[in-house]
Amino acid sequence: MNWRQEVDNRKEAFLTDLQGLLQIPSVLDESKSAPDMPFGPDVRRALDYMFEIGERDGFKTKDVGGYAGHLEYGDGEEIVGILCHLDVVPAGEGWTYGAFNPTIKDGKIIARGSNDDKGPSMAAYYGLRIVKELGLPLSKRVRLIAGCDEESEWRCVREYFKQEQMPTYGFAPDADFPIINAEKGLYDGVLKQLPIQRTSGAAYHLVSFMSGERPNMVPDFAKAELKTDEVLEEKFEAYLEKYEADGTCVYDRGTYTFTMKGKAAHAMEPDNGISAAYVLAGFLLHLPLDIQGERYIELVRHVFADSRGISLGIEASDETGDLTINGGVFRYNTEERTATVNIRYPYTAKFEERLQNLREIALSLGFELKTRQHMPPHHVAEDHPLVKTLADVYERQTGEHANLMAIGGGTYARSLQAGVAFGALFPGAKDVAHQVDEYMEIEDLLRAAAIYAEAIYELAK
Ligand SMILES: [Zn+2]
Repeated sequence: MNWRQEVDNRKEAFLTDLQGLLQIPSVLDESKSAPDMPFGPDVRRALDYMFEIGERDGFKTKDVGGYAGHLEYGDGEEIVGILCHLDVVPAGEGWTYGAFNPTIKDGKIIARGSNDDKGPSMAAYYGLRIVKELGLPLSKRVRLIAGCDEESEWRCVREYFKQEQMPTYGFAPDADFPIINAEKGLYDGVLKQLPIQRTSGAAYHLVSFMSGERPNMVPDFAKAELKTDEVLEEKFEAYLEKYEADGTCVYDRGTYTFTMKGKAAHAMEPDNGISAAYVLAGFLLHLPLDIQGERYIELVRHVFADSRGISLGIEASDETGDLTINGGVFRYNTEERTATVNIRYPYTAKFEERLQNLREIALSLGFELKTRQHMPPHHVAEDHPLVKTLADVYERQTGEHANLMAIGGGTYARSLQAGVAFGALFPGAKDVAHQVDEYMEIEDLLRAAAIYAEAIYELAK
């Protein structure tokens, strides 16, 4: 079977269908949510658009309350699932041709969603369409499941799988080729300072300490206010010099305002960044602060001393990577005294024990740890038929080795019981998801569609 030839025979139709989908500004709009359109009318339109295409091509369709839906082909008890999503992140400013005005230029298709995830979704749809049009015998049903809330809260898949059968196995074309078969556990928590009765007559009173906006980012800026009569300029300059740090210090009527720059990075690898909070806290640590402030700064320095949790004794590692810990948002003022904790841990780590350790350390520093979100690790074994089949197909079509990847983030595949992320970004391709002028190479979409067609056939035959 020449899968690529089958895709090329349908190239014009593929691009037309994709452009129609890309024209729909399917951004979450809860202010306009209504029955059957929980995420607003534009997201609803994208789902209806896929249903129309599916019905045109002879697929069974099912709407699950506007949260998600599927296009189905074949017979059998078991289901192969292909999990896509039709919602996109907001456009943002500065598009060359308009975010929802899909434009083909230099072999690229440029539009919001071209890369994440409408382009790959349409490639998977054409893979399924080819299998159907070739009339190949299948022993399982194949469902292209289209979610409508991937970019926000995944309410789509939660609602969908409440009502619909979980596929035996499947893949999500919403990340990278070759195959992501392991995703770390994700823990999001908040450390809250407990009230301290005791007061002290310290010469320095920490008024505020603020840093970061998002728990999953290394903060690149921090600011602290300190009330004192002492003179600190020289000490601060010396600190900046010693640690090659970039900060400022302004004194005004009894209050110092310090700022510090760091380097932003995703919490998947905090070592790619420099925490401005940690650096600024390093300066404050050696000043005799009021007891509440002193404890807060101690927490910043102790809990986030290293990205692997070594200072906390919670480190863990396996072939899917190291446990990492990130402090993303720090708020210290009269109303709020908190710090967020974002931990990503490999699937073999005994996390409950480690969490208990962290809880005890936090408590000894005067903080309680509250869980906000916890997603267990996701892992499909190397010798699982799903992984072996996809690897074979990928290697056959690309001539490249299908190495398995483990990541610290969470891909859509983890909402399948046995699911891996499989494309559609090829190794070396630029990841422009969520960016202005998001694009996808048309050649890559066609290659992906051919891989998906064969993969669907092999998984469902
Ligand atoms: Zn996506």
